[in-house]
Amino acid sequence: MSSNQSLSKRDLSVLWHPCTQMKDHENFPIIPIKKGRGIWLEDFDGNRYLDAISSWWVNLFGHANPYINAALKDQLDTLEHVIFAGFTHEAAVELAEKLVEITPEGLNRCFYADNGSAAVEVALKMSFHYWRNLGQTQKKQFITLENSYHGETLGALAVGNVPLYKETYAPLLMDVITVPGPDCYHREPGESWADYSTRRFALMEQALQQHSDTVCAVIIEPLVQCAGNMRMYDPVYLTLLRAACDKYNVHLIADEVAVGFGRSGTLFACEQAAISPDFICLSKGLTGGYLPLSAVVTTDQMYQAFYADYQNMSAFLHSHSYTGNALACRAGLATLEIFQQHNIIEKNRSLAEMMTKVAARFHDHPHVAEVRQTGMILAIEMVKNKHSREPYPWQERRGLRVYQYALSKGVLLRPLGNVVYFMPPYIVTEDQLLLIAEVAWQGIQQAVKD
Ligand code: PMP
Repeated sequence: MSSNQSLSKRDLSVLWHPCTQMKDHENFPIIPIKKGRGIWLEDFDGNRYLDAISSWWVNLFGHANPYINAALKDQLDTLEHVIFAGFTHEAAVELAEKLVEITPEGLNRCFYADNGSAAVEVALKMSFHYWRNLGQTQKKQFITLENSYHGETLGALAVGNVPLYKETYAPLLMDVITVPGPDCYHREPGESWADYSTRRFALMEQALQQHSDTVCAVIIEPLVQCAGNMRMYDPVYLTLLRAACDKYNVHLIADEVAVGFGRSGTLFACEQAAISPDFICLSKGLTGGYLPLSAVVTTDQMYQAFYADYQNMSAFLHSHSYTGNALACRAGLATLEIFQQHNIIEKNRSLAEMMTKVAARFHDHPHVAEVRQTGMILAIEMVKNKHSREPYPWQERRGLRVYQYALSKGVLLRPLGNVVYFMPPYIVTEDQLLLIAEVAWQGIQQAVKD
């Protein structure tokens, strides 16, 4: 029988975990999870943790969700996986049909990959390759936003801008054009999100004007730069960007890996600006947090530019062994069925309001500079000085103190730097939100002590 201690010991002798300085585990334990049910995770010693961050933003309807479990068990007895070149299967077709139906107008073609970074790579390569197929070989650059994050593989890292992840690998990365962003944390006192986002768009317009001849696409995270400390901006930026991309003949890649599937308050964040990108990248919530799968949904126009006789050598030959995995696609279908059957987007409106309510007290906290929210994402920016907004030095790892305190109280919060955020599964209850907020409050109290 495993215990927390025995499994941790075995883990630390053979494993290397993501996004982790492994030496940290000399001072605090890794937590072996035995099982999950609903919003709760349970370790081998019987401690429970409320998953307030949806296990890295993937889980939508709880762990061991009975509906998704049943769909997967059924799929398991039918087909687990099949090569996706030359072959297809029901779950992949049905899921693609659904994605085409629910994504913004004009997105009619679905290409599968198996994680968010891979989806970003696919979109970048497709965009570049589209222009090449049209003879526009001078188009080989990408425009990205300051503070953006698009994943960890080299292409995705190159179009990202968070120095913590990017700087070390800079010598390996393609050059990109980085435009100052619309992050509304930096707006002037009294300035609205819409005004600030509009004002900041001028810098994007300038970049497009200057570089459109050589640029394939602009890639953005619509409305929330999640890994970039949950910084947010107004939908007007997306509306302006869509129009400008059309004007300058540049693709728009919407990376909705994190904000898709209801996180932003609408099914897809692009809906809030009433725009259709040329590519939408989806992953995370796509399978309800069950299995790795991603999809890039694009336009007929894109597809047609690759569609020719083989001898033309214009096909998109990108592939992953697990493309269109049947179990993952089936989990995706079950997830979308839950959205439909339970009217989730509508219900999330009142959940989002509850989140606003439980977090109201943080506005006046002496070490909180901002409480911001977009739909089902709420972020609390901890600072050293509320008035000057001077941040705590990163070396002090204040967020880590919140993390450790919260774990000791049975809540999984995993601040990004000094930003504490709530991104719960959509099954969270009012009582659970109150618990999350209370633990976050106490955690911040501990973290700001010196
Ligand atoms: N894009 C965005 C916006 C993300 O937030 C993430 C992951 N946090 C990724 C891409 C990469 O996804 P994955 O971790 O599945 O590679």
